[in-house]
Amino acid sequence: MSQTNTDPEIASQPMTGTWSDLIGHDRIRDWFATAIKQGRFGGSMLFVGPPGSGKKTAAKLLAKTLLCEQTAPASMSPCGTCSSCIQVEADTHVDVIRVSKPDDKATIPLEYLIGEREARMQEGFCHDIQLKPLVGSRKIAILEDGDFLNEEGANCLLKTLEEPPADAVILIIGTVEQQQLPTIRSRCQIIRFTLNQKNAKRLLREVHGINVSEEQLDEAIEIAGGNMHTALRLLDEASNDFHNDLTKLLLAKSPDPVKISRVLTEKMTSVGKDAKKRRHALRDAFAIAVQNYRRRVRALTYADDFDATTMSRLDRSVRAIHELDRNANQSTLIECYAADIAAGVTGERGGIG
Ligand SMILES: [Zn+2]
Repeated sequence: MSQTNTDPEIASQPMTGTWSDLIGHDRIRDWFATAIKQGRFGGSMLFVGPPGSGKKTAAKLLAKTLLCEQTAPASMSPCGTCSSCIQVEADTHVDVIRVSKPDDKATIPLEYLIGEREARMQEGFCHDIQLKPLVGSRKIAILEDGDFLNEEGANCLLKTLEEPPADAVILIIGTVEQQQLPTIRSRCQIIRFTLNQKNAKRLLREVHGINVSEEQLDEAIEIAGGNMHTALRLLDEASNDFHNDLTKLLLAKSPDPVKISRVLTEKMTSVGKDAKKRRHALRDAFAIAVQNYRRRVRALTYADDFDATTMSRLDRSVRAIHELDRNANQSTLIECYAADIAAGVTGERGGIG
């Protein structure tokens, strides 16, 4: 029932498998350590924070720490070599339940939580967590993509979250705290994974092995709005040429809609046919556009100037991201976006006028 959902671009991180991988969250680690030492670690927790900020890393480290066959949990130093550690790392440990949203679904399917219709509560997340651990001493259930729980799914989880079996640990992983359903929030201990600029840069350098200038790191983090997955994609060397090409086209005196459309389409198709990857690629492109127009607006403001066209282009780029997130047809979106940027209009259709 567990589904893996690994981003290949992100899977190649040179992780050490120890708590030193968890950059910028010493307080969270210390809190876990104290709770484990005092024997009161358990129950339902909700991890929130931007993508790539360390929530899944923390979940995996917790699973290893609690299930390692060589070292006691309180030592917070899983050996990394016993069969439990290896299986947790490979997402194959029988006492670690993992559920995530499949790429082709808008929400986490109910069956993943409470089993198929003909086998309700005989399988799925809520059922599996109730079973005795098979090899370890505890059960750990990790629900990724908490952002994509619908009301019905959340309702199925309520009882489990409220009264998790003794010694079980339930971790729900989401991004924006406010986006999590109130019924879930109120039943979980909320652990916030925030990264300041310094730690975001450390994470990119030390964990992901990114070796570029401080300015490039700062810029990528800013464009990505704190989303470390986006920052990593932006820092991917292959995207540098694209970044420069797009910037030139967008900031040209008279932007060429045909060229903009072509560059965006090439970017989108270069990542293959996978819809999620295409959306990421386009999202990054629009984020670059937002950044560029924001900078220009800022520069003009300093010069005590105001340029309505640049403002419209900025608005159009922000709108493009929203449209993308609402699953707009991507080819149509590219065409309309390129035309609107060339015309210097916001692309707001309908409404006033
Ligand atoms: Zn171990």
